[in-house]
Amino acid sequence: MRHADHRRYLAGDLCGGRCGAVGADALLAGQRAAFALTRPPGHHAARDYCGGYCFFNNAAIAAQHLRQNGARRVAVLDVDYHHGNGTQDIFYRRSDVLFLSIHGHPRTEYPFFLGFADECGEGEGLDYNVNYPLAAGSDVDSWFAALELACGRIGRFAPDALVISLGVDAFVGDPISKFALQSEDFLRLGERLGRLGIPALFCLEGGYAVEPIGMNAVNVLTAFESSI
Ligand code: ZN
Repeated sequence: MRHADHRRYLAGDLCGGRCGAVGADALLAGQRAAFALTRPPGHHAARDYCGGYCFFNNAAIAAQHLRQNGARRVAVLDVDYHHGNGTQDIFYRRSDVLFLSIHGHPRTEYPFFLGFADECGEGEGLDYNVNYPLAAGSDVDSWFAALELACGRIGRFAPDALVISLGVDAFVGDPISKFALQSEDFLRLGERLGRLGIPALFCLEGGYAVEPIGMNAVNVLTAFESSI
């Protein structure tokens, strides 16, 4: 892939899978970052089932599109409050796509049946699936400690591209989630991801405090842009 100085964010539409692929094309064309504004979200859609309002796994479609068009390795980091069970399912037996997820512990949080720390991948995919479940109510420091671990793993994997499943329901004011990130913490998230130095496609996932969704998502993007 070519890298370019130009950066562009893309607005999308309800056809999230297509939107994700268009965002991936922007990275393949040398853009440093792109944003797929996808609703409904996608990360609970798996190989043979849908769930959690998700029908097409936008982030997985984008990751596969990147793989098929020049990226040798792709990492997918899911920062939505809920485990990205669909994305895990799709790449669970593969080593060319590293999947990592920071989420509320499935003992008590949706999707309940997947997202435990001992789910590490199978076959060729062993050690290429990494879950960081945090107890509901975990504080901001715990969340960023998990992010730091995830960033270390991504760095060692050295992917050509990074897809971020950007749920912003880790926000303290989210009505169905139980993490504590403030809006300023989303700046910190974007800055940390920018320091990875990897071209990144952001796919919008969940977020149910409707008013702050825009501010929190834009905080990630602007901090990312400022740090690359
Ligand atoms: Zn969510």
